[in-house]
Amino acid sequence: MVLSGASTGEYQALVYATVLYALIGVAMGIGVGIGLAVLGMVFKKLSDPRAWSLGFLGVLVPLGLVIARYVVNKVVYAEQGVPMTGNLAILGAFAAIALLTLWLVPIVLTKTPLRMLAEPRGTAAAYSGILTLAAIFSFAPSGEDPAGVLAPENPATDAPGGAPDAVLVVIDTLRSDVLGAYGDEGGLSPNIDKVAAEGVLFEEYITQASWTRASFASLYSSMLPSGHKCILKAENLPDDVVTLAEVMDAHGYATGGLPNNINVTRSFNFQQGFDYFSYQAPSYIAGAAESSAQLSMYNVLRKVRDKVTAGSYTVTDYYQPSEVVLENARGFIEANREKNNRYFLVVHLMEPHDPYFAHPYDGNAVGRAWNPNPDPSEAPRLKELYRNEVKWVDQELGKFFDWMREEGAWDNTLVVLTADHGEEFQEHGGWWHGITLYDEQIHVPLIIKPPGRELAGARVPWQVREIDVAPTIGTFAQAELPPTWQGKDIFDSDAKSTIEQMLNPPPPPVLPEDEDGVADADNDGEAQAEAGPVVTPETLARVAVAEQNFEGNDIQAIRKGGCKYIEANEGNPRGLPTTALFELDGDPTEQKNLAGGDAGRCDPSALQSEMKDTIATSADNEITNDEGEMSCSDCERLMALGYMSDCTGPCGG
Ligand SMILES: [Zn+2]
Repeated sequence: MVLSGASTGEYQALVYATVLYALIGVAMGIGVGIGLAVLGMVFKKLSDPRAWSLGFLGVLVPLGLVIARYVVNKVVYAEQGVPMTGNLAILGAFAAIALLTLWLVPIVLTKTPLRMLAEPRGTAAAYSGILTLAAIFSFAPSGEDPAGVLAPENPATDAPGGAPDAVLVVIDTLRSDVLGAYGDEGGLSPNIDKVAAEGVLFEEYITQASWTRASFASLYSSMLPSGHKCILKAENLPDDVVTLAEVMDAHGYATGGLPNNINVTRSFNFQQGFDYFSYQAPSYIAGAAESSAQLSMYNVLRKVRDKVTAGSYTVTDYYQPSEVVLENARGFIEANREKNNRYFLVVHLMEPHDPYFAHPYDGNAVGRAWNPNPDPSEAPRLKELYRNEVKWVDQELGKFFDWMREEGAWDNTLVVLTADHGEEFQEHGGWWHGITLYDEQIHVPLIIKPPGRELAGARVPWQVREIDVAPTIGTFAQAELPPTWQGKDIFDSDAKSTIEQMLNPPPPPVLPEDEDGVADADNDGEAQAEAGPVVTPETLARVAVAEQNFEGNDIQAIRKGGCKYIEANEGNPRGLPTTALFELDGDPTEQKNLAGGDAGRCDPSALQSEMKDTIATSADNEITNDEGEMSCSDCERLMALGYMSDCTGPCGG
């Protein structure tokens, strides 16, 4: 039995392996039995014990070889493939065991009480004994929950009384232009729109990368990718970064995370700071659990299944749907409310990410993994599938938010709703995400509902950034912010007073009247001067820099003052221009590259030098990038979501 998954603290593999291998053993036993019957006719005097040994070996040696090779590959060769010498050593060991068995077992079966094994009833009793033992083990207490503590008994310190509970909802791959609150008229998002009406909507929110891992790393660490250094596909989130969950945890919050995409799980060190961190992992076929899925025979069966069911897709093979994740979110909130804990919860929903499934599910789906480059004429159809996924998330979120309202867990909770990046539908001749830094990829929704009804209904027109989210949540919690964080509170005093003024414009100044009753317009200038320097959206806007190095496309961008400047490496596989400049007011979809020509009011060299300086300053820290060893199953999950095209390395060929 292979039990490499035992470290996850569950025992299902024991019984699973027993049943699986027993079924295969029965099939092989029938084959071997027929073979032995033929042998028995050839060698008239094949003794019962010898026949028993041959039958035993005939079933167990082939199975044992498969398992042994799997274990040796995993443990000795770190899944890099077993060389010829290794295979020969395994074969040699099995030959020795077989010879020993052939010599020893007939003696045992004739000279000791174990001779009853040679009878059919004895054999059956022995096998059922093994099965029973495995079944008992499989129901044994599974020890510590690998996800951690749902509701800690004693949070490290007490969060201050006035600090709110906080829920951060990240909808993977959600564009802003599909939401009603951002101007779409398709009615896909009534529930998200309702949150926007109760809170503050940010019209210009920019993420610092356009693929899940690098973007979440910026969200959690409040650093640009050059700062947190979790950029390339093999890179982990370094231990050295200070994450939002770590700050909240140290501040006395019970912290929970429900990641739903392998990129942001324990596999890449994203559990930092979470008391409870439960990967909403894809389900396995035939009811297998994580440990059973490590079985070599399971993986053989899965490959057979994939061939048979090609063309019919199941959502839970890729991620857990919103209804499942939000049910777990309810569990976390309930458990912590029961204990009177202040809590911080991150909920990760995946529907808009490919594969795009039809609703209701009908087995059809379009996914990057098996259809990396659909014909451009497919854009309307794919966009429609995508929009229906958004509608589905909104419905499920609506039920969850209603439940929070009924529980009394809504009004005083800080709710932040955002996305890690957007998605391309041929706007620049491509699909999916992660390759470019155009606005369809990095200009995504941000809606913040402060506790109470503070600032309800405001729409903030100035630019804010993903790295500002952690400091904003930390400030609401009254936590001390770490000096490494590169963003700042979205509601700092200038921003907050401006938003308040936008919501409640001061009454027009009462002008002194002349004797004839006509207002004296000449006094306007004096009234203005007394109000002090004017804070405008231009002065409140924050400079956004984004970075990406994905599949050979090494790109940096800066977005400032209605201008956007992008640099890409020479010969990048996507075919992006090495420099691009857009004037966003007149060209919001970035179709007219002004680089090298008349730059209008945008100054490419000033933008370039500010971009380079910002990145250099951000990179100047002690954090080293942390490249992990990717396991075969992690690689296959990345491949299912289109992030890897080849797993022969981690999976050993
Ligand atoms: Zn993502």
